[in-house]
Amino acid sequence: MIKTFDVVIVGAGGAGLRAAVEIPKEYSCAVISKVYPPRSHTGTAQGGVCAALGNMEDDSWENHAFDTVKGSDYLGDQDSIEVMCRDAIRAIIELEHMGMPFSRNEKGQIAQRKFGGHTKPADPNDPYSNRLPVMRSCYSADRTGHVMLHTLFENSIKNQVTFFSEYFATDLLIENGVCKGVVAMDIATSELTVFQAKSVLFATGGNGRIFRITSNAHVGTGDGMALVYRAGLPLEDMEFYQFHPTGLWKLGILVSEAARGEGGILKNSSGERFMERYAPTVKDLAPRDMVSRAIITEIREGRGIRGSDGTDYVYLDVSHLGKELIDEKLPEITGFARTYLGVEPTKEPIPIQPTAHYAMGGIPTNADCEVLMNEMGETVKGLYAAGECACVSVHGANRLGTNSLLDLVVFGRRGGKAIAEFLKHADFQPVDESAADNSRRIIDAVMNSTGGEKIAALRTELQNSMMELCGVFRNEEGLKKMIEILGGLRERSRSVSIQDKGKVFNTELLGALELQNMLDNAEATVFGAYARNESRGAHTREDHPKRDDVNWMKHTFAFRKNSSYPELKYKPVVVTRYQPMERKY
Ligand SMILES: Cc1cc2nc3c(=O)[nH]c(=O)nc-3n(C[C@H](O)[C@H](O)[C@H](O)COP(=O)(O)OP(=O)(O)OC[C@H]3O[C@@H](n4cnc5c(N)ncnc54)[C@H](O)[C@@H]3O)c2cc1C
Repeated sequence: MIKTFDVVIVGAGGAGLRAAVEIPKEYSCAVISKVYPPRSHTGTAQGGVCAALGNMEDDSWENHAFDTVKGSDYLGDQDSIEVMCRDAIRAIIELEHMGMPFSRNEKGQIAQRKFGGHTKPADPNDPYSNRLPVMRSCYSADRTGHVMLHTLFENSIKNQVTFFSEYFATDLLIENGVCKGVVAMDIATSELTVFQAKSVLFATGGNGRIFRITSNAHVGTGDGMALVYRAGLPLEDMEFYQFHPTGLWKLGILVSEAARGEGGILKNSSGERFMERYAPTVKDLAPRDMVSRAIITEIREGRGIRGSDGTDYVYLDVSHLGKELIDEKLPEITGFARTYLGVEPTKEPIPIQPTAHYAMGGIPTNADCEVLMNEMGETVKGLYAAGECACVSVHGANRLGTNSLLDLVVFGRRGGKAIAEFLKHADFQPVDESAADNSRRIIDAVMNSTGGEKIAALRTELQNSMMELCGVFRNEEGLKKMIEILGGLRERSRSVSIQDKGKVFNTELLGALELQNMLDNAEATVFGAYARNESRGAHTREDHPKRDDVNWMKHTFAFRKNSSYPELKYKPVVVTRYQPMERKY
């Protein structure tokens, strides 16, 4: 079956829906999503979306840009960061006008709270003076992503977008550097549809499911990144994967940084507020890479608390904030602690551990969300990407909290606008039913396989070994081992067979397709990490503990080769006004 639309957006999270709102009504626009749109991961975002509104105290977009560059450990492209931080203020007011219900301060303005790495200079005349935490993150209690996603969903319905919910994209169609559309499977029937389109935008979110402990929803398997990678296009900076310091112990479910923004503190087994030793000025509100390393170091040096199953954790204590504040500002996350760990946060500390959270890397794009086909910056005609699956790169080596929801609305809109402009002169490229053959072949191979391997076993091995060998700390030996493990998993994945041979909601088949996507994501991540002989942001090499600006102020571009051994190329970081400095907090 062939369906034809001017624009096809793959992904109905914040980035996809914000782009959809921007497509003028005279063009036909389809949004494909493997889950019903409001179930996209954006809906789970808790803490906030930042912009230097200055509603609570003085602030400026330049402060925000400086923090983002410094937070990125100087790997973020500064031209894109300036675009994002400058546009942030307009973007938040626009969300308010679209109907997003923000929490309010006493004056009735949008309320703001502190978040890690967001600061302003103690001396306003000296940007490099001591920097103290600033209230910059706009929020809706601790359900910010939920209300943002619903607001954008309503607005895209108003914009007459056609939704294909529970459709799973299986292939990206590109010929001679021009995008022709995508292929997707209707999960309800297993039927394949060729979506012919003048332009395609990927907004497929993250890939946290390649790690065992993760805050990501089950859909976070990096499908969009894998489809782009398999189409011969590069993935950028995949070695930079963020571990959020505070996941619920053993489960990884997120306890938002808002808990520390509101005054929560981290404690080790002797009750010490250990962040005072690692980041004397901002303490618990240091950026995530630093806090995650600090927690693992406390645990490794024997100052963690041993759990019943033999694994260790530290405490996040909010009990001193009082029941009233907790119930008003942190209802959801404290509810999680009660439900899943049986802990009462108003009275006792919450056991936490770092959890795989956010992909800084992804599909390389320019600031208009056009996908790059190489490290020279040439673009694929008609192909766009935005949100967590994309790498603009505004987050560089480490994202600051609440900069992702901002990224979605700023770059989702810019992608939508760029597409609207492109459509004025674009034509359809010829496609026929055979465009689905590649997907059909892969699906038939899984359905007919009699091999002895099981999806769950391979997936678990991938997640466990990624967690151990390519997590918060990495080294050459471990990464080498991980490369071998990946090779073995790739080989074994060819003999995966499934029991469900039916066509209706065959979630086992989906699991098999997702497993291939996860292996592709892991491959680009591990090889990039192995090659990068330095420590920067979230990428910490124990055998190369220093940042190396002479050799590594550059973005990794990983290209898939048939040998399962990616080819790595590099693109210089864009530096505008902020020269690299040592990163102290
Ligand atoms: C628990 C949690 C809390 C967070 N809190 C915050 C916060 O407070 N502030 C902040 O700034 N950031 C936060 N983040 C990060 C932020 O929420 C995400 O980075 C962001 O929401 C990703 O949005 P997205 O639009 O790129 O993708 P998502 O919202 O993840 O949506 C992806 C979409 O792609 C679709 N899709 C994927 N694969 C396919 C496929 N093969 N075929 C068809 N469709 C597909 C999915 O169905 C979905 O609609 C949080 C993240 C998590 C996990």
